[in-house]
Amino acid sequence: MILSRTVVIKKVFGKRFNIDLFIEVMSKLENIRILIVGAGIAGSALFRRLKAQGHQVDIIEKSPTLTNEGAAICLPANAMIELKKLNLVDQVMACAHQVNQIEYALSNGKTLAKASLNDAPLNKAPFVALKRDALMNILRKDIAEEITLDTCLTHIEQTGESATVTFNNGYTQHYDLVVGADGINSHVRGIIQPDTPLLKHTVTNWRFITQKPSQDFQPVYYVGDTSLFMIYPISNEEVYCYGHVIDPTEQYYAMPVKTALNAVFANYAAPIKHCLDNMPDNDHIIRGGLKSVAKTESVYNNVVLIGDALHGCPPSLQQGAGMSLEDVNCLADQLADNTLDLKKVLVNYQQARSARVAWTVQESNKIIKLAGLGQSFIGRLVRNFIIRRTGPANVVGWRKLLAEKI
Ligand SMILES: Cc1cc2nc3c(=O)[nH]c(=O)nc-3n(C[C@H](O)[C@H](O)[C@H](O)COP(=O)(O)OP(=O)(O)OC[C@H]3O[C@@H](n4cnc5c(N)ncnc54)[C@H](O)[C@@H]3O)c2cc1C
Repeated sequence: MILSRTVVIKKVFGKRFNIDLFIEVMSKLENIRILIVGAGIAGSALFRRLKAQGHQVDIIEKSPTLTNEGAAICLPANAMIELKKLNLVDQVMACAHQVNQIEYALSNGKTLAKASLNDAPLNKAPFVALKRDALMNILRKDIAEEITLDTCLTHIEQTGESATVTFNNGYTQHYDLVVGADGINSHVRGIIQPDTPLLKHTVTNWRFITQKPSQDFQPVYYVGDTSLFMIYPISNEEVYCYGHVIDPTEQYYAMPVKTALNAVFANYAAPIKHCLDNMPDNDHIIRGGLKSVAKTESVYNNVVLIGDALHGCPPSLQQGAGMSLEDVNCLADQLADNTLDLKKVLVNYQQARSARVAWTVQESNKIIKLAGLGQSFIGRLVRNFIIRRTGPANVVGWRKLLAEKI
């Protein structure tokens, strides 16, 4: 590649052009070897971009197949802005459903606050939701065969200018850059931050897709005393439901999923009853617990974190995909700049991302705490007052992110 470029440059600029200097600059990042660990949203998107930029990049995935769990996913406008940079907006819009309004309501259905998504700065791009499978199929289209499945790393040795990685098959390989894109329970983060466990929120949650309670349904977040239920349309017929309950003793986590959902949300308003009456079979209801990373430092010599490995947190702001894609585009843009060396790339990435990522994790944790105020009478008054006064808590956060105040 360098040879052919030399010939072209000589032809175009003649002998007086300093080709050696030009090639030195142009080649700074050209031959670096990159390993991406994890082929979720962040890893797959980064692989797409780096391959398109001509980098030597390997991607490994610990699962033996490329299956996806996760019902559906909501993509606020900043996620769509990043998908545009990946040239994937049209594909996503073809499978997604756009919404125009967000409502927070009490569990009995009484409205606390509503916000239009058509007002600036929220209207920079559409807010949509779609099945998670559909998003992953788009992100992995044309790259699926290049993902090495059933593979994870067991060890990273940082050796000055590079990182030596040992894989689960015993094979060892040198990389200039290792990208940890292996999700909230990141093994890569565990290696480089061994003493920083995840924060647990003692909240049990469930997700599933069901039929729409009514035509023209816009997203509603119903807040109860110790629980919350979201209904978010993903098509003309279907909605994505997310419910959670504060569960310090894990009594609800231990129950069969439908029994738990019926118990927690028994007194909620009619649309929730409709969703519970039409729940899918157990295999299509996903149960989990909420966790957050405790530290959002992204660069450790030749290892960099992106996606949930860097900023995994509760989905209160639905920023998982948006933040992951922002990481991807930021890192890929830096790696595309041939005037930079790798150290500078990583410094720039860390500087560009640190405040926004840290704020998003803190704000997402704060919204979980705000919902949790409902446990006491006074707390409920305070929570409801804040929501009535400032609007839906997620919209408040999205405004800040989209105005790029952080
Ligand atoms: C209940 C819930 C609801 C959510 N709702 C939304 C939402 O509506 N909108 C939104 O934007 N975000 C949402 N999120 C967050 C979103 O799911 C994540 O932010 C997003 O999936 C992060 O992508 P990722 O690629 O970083 O990690 P992941 O999607 O977790 O992908 C990590 C990949 O790495 C692989 N892996 C793991 N360990 C290893 C290893 N050691 N070696 C190799 N591979 C490995 C995994 O198998 C996986 O394929 C939600 C999260 C939860 C828990």
